[in-house]
Amino acid sequence: IDGESGRSYTFADVRRDVMKCTSELVRLGIQPGDVVAMCCSNCLEYPVITIAAASCSALVTTCNPTYTEAEMTKQFSHSQPIAVFCDEENYLELTNVAKKVPSIKHIFIAASSKKYPSLKDLIRNARYPVYNKINPTEDTFLLPYSSGTTGLPKGVMLTHYNMVSITELCNFLSTPNDIFYLVLPMFHIYGMMSVMKSLVKGTTMVISKRFTVESFFGLVERYKITSLLAVPPMVLAMYNSPLNSKYDLSSLIRVFCGAAPLPLGVSVEVQKKLNVSLIQGWGLSEAVPLTASFGGAIPLASVGVITANTLIKIVDLGSGKVLGPNEEGEICCKGPQVMKGYYKNPSATTQCIDYDGWFHTGDIGYYDEHGLLYVIDRLKELIKYKGFQVVAPAELEAELLKHYVTDVAVIGVPDTEAGEVPKAFLVKSRASLTADDIHSFLEGAGVSKFKYLRGGVEFLSVIPKSASGKILRRELRVKETLKLSKL
Ligand code: AMP
Repeated sequence: IDGESGRSYTFADVRRDVMKCTSELVRLGIQPGDVVAMCCSNCLEYPVITIAAASCSALVTTCNPTYTEAEMTKQFSHSQPIAVFCDEENYLELTNVAKKVPSIKHIFIAASSKKYPSLKDLIRNARYPVYNKINPTEDTFLLPYSSGTTGLPKGVMLTHYNMVSITELCNFLSTPNDIFYLVLPMFHIYGMMSVMKSLVKGTTMVISKRFTVESFFGLVERYKITSLLAVPPMVLAMYNSPLNSKYDLSSLIRVFCGAAPLPLGVSVEVQKKLNVSLIQGWGLSEAVPLTASFGGAIPLASVGVITANTLIKIVDLGSGKVLGPNEEGEICCKGPQVMKGYYKNPSATTQCIDYDGWFHTGDIGYYDEHGLLYVIDRLKELIKYKGFQVVAPAELEAELLKHYVTDVAVIGVPDTEAGEVPKAFLVKSRASLTADDIHSFLEGAGVSKFKYLRGGVEFLSVIPKSASGKILRRELRVKETLKLSKL
């Protein structure tokens, strides 16, 4: 159900349109191994097109529709899609992108449109069904982009087997009687997996494009929503809002929260205030969600028990030695949900999946004597703005190096509302350079607003680096945390 308009798709509608869309994509010439891009906001057609494209044995790359033209061009120059499904608002931008990325032969609006060709037009006269053959363990279904442990964003190859495994592994999290609310973007793995899981389970899902506490509470009352899929800033907004007493929220029983850490105090208070169980989950694009916990018996500080059929080990950050309960180290995992690798990037793949098949997550944590997992820090560089908007420091550093700086390091610093925001440390090449110059340069450089240096700019005489030349980001982060704790 589209929350605002009330427009809905039954499971039969989904199946019919998936079959039509698959056939027409094959007729457009989509071959196994080709890429189809989704560059639109949440809409009922999003999962339909995604499943249809994957049924053609194409790889579906999901892209943030608020990206700038330059950012879309980067992602599509790498993934080389043949067809792109977008919003009316970014259609013209995408026609410009297509001039720079000639692989793009077709652009459609995912939802309906009177102005431009849309999915509806594509499938209006759909003929008898045709499919391409799929090899589930080898063929990539989804290709979201994530910066992984280090460097620039990379295409994460999630196979059909990965996707089916995770919907099965998370099966216990809902019942067909549930009504879920999804406002998390389907271009991010959390939103995408949630919608796939609902389709498999037969759960009703109410979707929206934008979150406000008031619109969410209104939708709970209207549709008797039982479960919210959230990221920490949404939970924080509900915690700070007095609006709960204005609405009938009695149907709401669970709030799932993941993608970034949630302060413990907030979890406790929100449970009481809304009379719900808060369930934390931890996961990452490369392994789809890995763990899940049920509130109540499980302490809220923990991200829960390990998902079925999944192995976790904690290794010492220096020696790589396997650690025991309550010892902190890097979390590594193995399981049917772990990605095949990074698209066209075997060296980045071998850096994170070792010879024994263990995926090194770049997250730091420990498990206790009851087997509960705790995520406490991040070894990797990635910065998460509001939970799902991912900033790759390497991308900002490359931009900043173009502007009168001789060296630079970007890290995430804590922010009450957004969780984390990017901050840059810079070594000037021109004495007169100011922080304002840096901000205005970045604004003109074609980067999305969520990547702006909201954490500030600091000039240093030298960027701390290891003997091998790697930026010591943890050192900068520790200094920053100390500074904040003194304020
Ligand atoms: P993404 O690939 O965008 O989903 O980002 C994955 C990263 O988000 C993980 O590797 C963690 O660093 C972080 N993350 C996800 N869930 C949690 C959580 N519950 N607590 C702390 N960090 C999390």
